[in-house]
Amino acid sequence: MIIDTHIHLDDDRYKDDLDEVLARAKKAGVEKYIIPAADPKTLPRAVELANSYKDIYFAVGVHPYDASNYNRIALEEFIEHPKCVAVGECGLDYYRLAEKEEEIEKEKALQKEVFIDQIELANRYNKPLIVHIREASLDSKEILKKYAKVNGVLHCFNANGGLLELANRGFYFGIGGVLTFKNAKKLVEIYPKLPQDKLLIETDGPYLTPHPYRGTRNEPAYCALILEKMSELSDINKQELEGIVYENTMRLFNLS
Ligand SMILES: [Zn+2]
Ligand SMILES: [Zn+2]
Repeated sequence: MIIDTHIHLDDDRYKDDLDEVLARAKKAGVEKYIIPAADPKTLPRAVELANSYKDIYFAVGVHPYDASNYNRIALEEFIEHPKCVAVGECGLDYYRLAEKEEEIEKEKALQKEVFIDQIELANRYNKPLIVHIREASLDSKEILKKYAKVNGVLHCFNANGGLLELANRGFYFGIGGVLTFKNAKKLVEIYPKLPQDKLLIETDGPYLTPHPYRGTRNEPAYCALILEKMSELSDINKQELEGIVYENTMRLFNLS
């Protein structure tokens, strides 16, 4: 059984055919889903899905792109819901910053403040973190080391060797479609160095669709393509790897 640990099923792009999407996923061996929160506006939709589908779980959080909409009270409203399994996706993303130097500093400061607040929330409620890091590895690592008392997953579509040491602090690595990209040199190089007991699978749908479907909407069924590539790069057969990743996921998110 595969668990898609990062799939934005609350996105409008799944609204019209969600049941077909889930049926295809099931056929491909995917049986559980975690919806990471990105934007506070879509959180009620994620909760609604978790209430209606037994295999859908969710997280509460605010993506760094939405840092200016952060409101802790809105997250606390749902954090004790029995299907809320994590806090995130939260983190730092310096890929799309403003152009003026002073604006950049302001944006970075806001992202950090909102990230730290969510880490503290996770600490308080003892929930794992779903961390989004892009072009901000050093700052993210420093903040996690300083503030996080819980573990979590680094959803690492642009992997970085510098983040590896976080495995020693209990952090997991979410492997997604990028691993299948023809130009995924960096991730392909780092992948074998990631500890096996820290690997998770995630599609990040509707984004980051794996090869050979790049350019179309991503969906949880494609977890199977990611697993296939992981197996190819690690010399563990698919079935065994699937079992390892499943156990990892159940452990991190306290699923039963
Ligand atoms: Zn992300
Ligand atoms: Zn995401």
